[in-house]
Amino acid sequence: MSATLITSEVDFAQEGKQTGYLQVPHSVHCSAYGWIPVPVAVISDSEGPTVLMIAGNHGDEYEGQIALTKLVQELSPKDILGRIILLTMANYPAAAAGLRTSPIDEGNLNRTFPGDPRGTPTQMIADYIENNLMPLADYMVDLHSGGSSLFYPPTMLRGMGHNEGEATKLTSLQAAFDLPYAWVFTGGGGPNSTARTALGAANRNGVTGIMAELGGGGGVDLDILRQTERGLRRILHSLGMLPGYRPDATRGTRELNARGSVFAYEAGLFEPFKEIGDPVHEGEIVGQVQHPDAPWKMPDPVRSPYAGIVLCKRAMGQVKRGDAVYQIAGDAA
Ligand SMILES: [Zn+2]
Repeated sequence: MSATLITSEVDFAQEGKQTGYLQVPHSVHCSAYGWIPVPVAVISDSEGPTVLMIAGNHGDEYEGQIALTKLVQELSPKDILGRIILLTMANYPAAAAGLRTSPIDEGNLNRTFPGDPRGTPTQMIADYIENNLMPLADYMVDLHSGGSSLFYPPTMLRGMGHNEGEATKLTSLQAAFDLPYAWVFTGGGGPNSTARTALGAANRNGVTGIMAELGGGGGVDLDILRQTERGLRRILHSLGMLPGYRPDATRGTRELNARGSVFAYEAGLFEPFKEIGDPVHEGEIVGQVQHPDAPWKMPDPVRSPYAGIVLCKRAMGQVKRGDAVYQIAGDAA
């Protein structure tokens, strides 16, 4: 347990279904003794594993927030074996504002772990998840999307596992989730690349954790939402926690490793030449930056330094120098 100042309205040790708020103290001009309400639910029945499910880690990523909200509504303790802890809007101020980061402290929760129990609201939430919720969990599922600026097809993200046992669990979770793509981090889960994320918090607590990228562009995609809902129930069933569920036939997952992102070097409007799933050659022109403010000016070509396929693409038309327009991935080695 950390030195958290956050108070939970639910008792994680109690069986049954409880809902309420994590109260994040926040003393401000118009609310001297006030708190920020981070919604939390726990559904628990007898013996079994604990799964921590997180959405709204980034506030403008919506499929996961809806899918977890529906699980809170639909699941009752009699349906499950074990315990599910659900955060539907983990960084509540960001999610309430429909923003990636918190408008209170500019905090990007998924770059803030392990957090700080005496820090800003985002730092306090990160610390609570890392030091109060992760120690309760055996598994973690953290649901993301491309947010406002990017769009991803349904993609599960995972490490390679720190040992053979964890590797087996991760491939089993991937098969259960059954999304079209899996982006596998090379280098044993990469503490360098994921240390500040919820996945890093899971790793530090010995929790088997996965993430997913589920759409984006600031909207909600119906097909991706349905795949998310299906995948979460399949995961619970695969862990022996949803015995009454009957999974349908597996559709199959293409395993990828990320090669890198393609960036714009000029400001303007990005004209894409590629869609998600399209093959890309090294050095190929994958789009161009147009200048409608000076239409006589020739467009600036954007080349991919990588060969592979387009995994994610920019959802916004406007670009400036340093914006990622594509992420390129290749079939897993
Ligand atoms: Zn995200």
